[in-house]
Amino acid sequence: MNCLICKQGQTAPGHAAVMLQRDACTVIIKGAPAQVCDNCGEYSLDEESAAAVLARAEGAVENGAE
Ligand SMILES: [Zn+2]
Repeated sequence: MNCLICKQGQTAPGHAAVMLQRDACTVIIKGAPAQVCDNCGEYSLDEESAAAVLARAEGAVENGAE
């Protein structure tokens, strides 16, 4: 599909480093499955991978990761 950010690139399935902030913690999930734009590099997560990423982030926060 067309990229929602630059409206010029095409998104394709790929992997992105997703950064989430929760309270005082910043959690970076590397290699999260995402739709990645081939033009600007912006990514978007579909609902399923967003849920999976959030679950991993919650686990990381509980383990005290930064
Ligand atoms: Zn784009």
